[in-house]
Amino acid sequence: MSGLNDHLRSELTATQQAGLLRTLPVIDSPQGPRITIEGRDLLNFASNDYLGLANDPRLRAAAIDGTERYGVGSGASRLVTGNLEPYAALEKRLAAFKHQPAALVFGSGYAANLGTITALVGTGDLVILDKLDHASIVDGARLSGATIRVYPHRDMRKLERILAGPTAAKASRILVVTETIFSMDGDRAPLEEIVELKDRYGAWLMIDEAHATGLYGDQRSGLVEELGVAGQIDVTLGTLSKALGCAGGFVCGSQDLVDFLVNRARSLIYSTALPPGTCAAAAAAVDLVASEDGKQRCDRLWQNVSLLKQGLAARDWDTASDSPILPLIVGPEETAVRLSRELREKGVFVPAIRYPTVARGKARLRVTVSASHAAGDIETFLAAIGPKP
Ligand SMILES: *Cc1c(COP(=O)(O)O)cnc(C)c1O
Repeated sequence: MSGLNDHLRSELTATQQAGLLRTLPVIDSPQGPRITIEGRDLLNFASNDYLGLANDPRLRAAAIDGTERYGVGSGASRLVTGNLEPYAALEKRLAAFKHQPAALVFGSGYAANLGTITALVGTGDLVILDKLDHASIVDGARLSGATIRVYPHRDMRKLERILAGPTAAKASRILVVTETIFSMDGDRAPLEEIVELKDRYGAWLMIDEAHATGLYGDQRSGLVEELGVAGQIDVTLGTLSKALGCAGGFVCGSQDLVDFLVNRARSLIYSTALPPGTCAAAAAAVDLVASEDGKQRCDRLWQNVSLLKQGLAARDWDTASDSPILPLIVGPEETAVRLSRELREKGVFVPAIRYPTVARGKARLRVTVSASHAAGDIETFLAAIGPKP
């Protein structure tokens, strides 16, 4: 057996040779339309801060106030002494915002998916996933010990075939989990059809609104609100970390669901509670998103999305997306890396997204736009990217 470092070195070399090596860039500025990476000022078309709230002065003030009143650390798990008052205030707002009876906040969206799926299903049960579901959903399903079936992206005929098939017939419980807006492709799940199928076959439905929370519906709570199906969703997951500009994840649903997760979700039980300042900032973010200012920001975001889509279409880039996530799929890993590097040389930051985040040979530039971009920023980006090669 070789030493650990020899093993690590050879794995890293192989990863690099495959064009898949990742590193952590140091960002020396707050999040915003411009960021400083390793001393260089770059236009940022890469973050999930869709409404430009991550560095909003009102959220910063709320975080400072929460910190002044409750301190930096929460001290323990929520079940011990960590359940400080800002949690209760945040959960009350989240439940109302999502049109659900109750909400439960976790340390991250990742932890919320892991803890919730493993609590709801186990050996003898069936979890059905969309092929493009986020890694945190896949990991939760794997860790649960339930049987997993995956349908091709948005393929409702295949979903129905699984629901009507022999594995489903043998399962004690069936849980369907889908994102509503897909994180790497920016398209929508056919949610109304999924709701119809899960009702017809008696399955439970859990949805992940990580990239929809704050952006869709009259009150901007998510795609479920826009489609008016809140009453038919068993479990709704969201994050505080994307359009809401903070950090953390949450689950909404019945009071029984929340009470059950408090007793069973291991990622909640065995992990220290989020800092109180973060909870206070997130509550302020929910208020802001629901306000007239939130509406204006959201309108500006959609104007930017449409400006960017028109500009990309005029340059022969195909953008089927329905969201501020515009994936420019180029195929080979090396092409995505090269295009990303060339953009960076022109002062624009867009990362190359590669395997294993997306399938091999489906490497892409994942362009995201924010309400905080000015029209001139979008023009600069379009000039830098140029026509599809
Ligand atoms: C980002 C993301 C998560 C994880 O949320 P974090 O708060 O970043 O841990 C979960 N699901 C989806 C679909 C995501 O895009």
